[in-house]
Amino acid sequence: MTPPSVLVFSGTDPSGGAGMQADITAIAALGAHPMPVVTVLTVQDNERVFGVFPVAAELVRQQAQVLVDRIGIAAVKLGIVGNRANAEAIAAIIRGLRSRQPDLPVVFDPVLAAGHGDALASEDAVEAIAPLFELATVITPNRIEADRLCGADHSPERQAEILLERGCQHVLLKGGHGPEQHEVLNRWVSKNRKRRWSWPRLPGEFHGSGCTLAAALAALLARGFDMEQAIGAAQAYCQQTLTSSYAIAPGQRIPRRI
Ligand code: PLP
Repeated sequence: MTPPSVLVFSGTDPSGGAGMQADITAIAALGAHPMPVVTVLTVQDNERVFGVFPVAAELVRQQAQVLVDRIGIAAVKLGIVGNRANAEAIAAIIRGLRSRQPDLPVVFDPVLAAGHGDALASEDAVEAIAPLFELATVITPNRIEADRLCGADHSPERQAEILLERGCQHVLLKGGHGPEQHEVLNRWVSKNRKRRWSWPRLPGEFHGSGCTLAAALAALLARGFDMEQAIGAAQAYCQQTLTSSYAIAPGQRIPRRI
């Protein structure tokens, strides 16, 4: 059977832990076909980011356009976009797809910085991603991202409401950067449904855990899972990749995706 195609917009991570390399391996591992459109080239190892070089918006547009003109797209996954011009080019591609497929799932991982806080955009990252909220079927912020996007004074419940008001249909608030010592609490909130999942907190830090979860979710939605099933299964897969992660050097570990 032909695997469904997932159109991915993300940045490269030459260490192989995060970004596009994470997206490709997670999507393929979960039975979908990744089609990676590069938005940003980064210079990084498994710990720090040394350089961020967004691709020209016209080149982002062209990479995607030739694909959407002849290949069926079953889901879209958004990682880092690099700047506002790239976000606008991506938004235009998604609007074109949605005019033919109104229910096309779009998974939006609103990555603002790498693990140590290193920037992953050439401009203010919050401002850069603004055009993408209203196109998100599901947005997957961690706690730090939710604080930056919605304000740190708000409760997670209020933060989820703010993201729904901006046009996202579902919010998966990830608890990995929270204060809990022994568990990671993830909250799913949509207009009509809410659910929580709790996972054992694993020791160590990981490079690309958020990318892995969002890419897995896109693959499962592409395969036709409903949102609740897809979120549950994507978390289980992500947890397994972290449990069996490996070290390529001291510092952040690499999720074992395949
Ligand atoms: N995308 C790229 C290109 C990255 O380099 C990173 C982190 O370094 C991320 C996304 C986000 O990674 P994580 O899944 O660890 O939040």
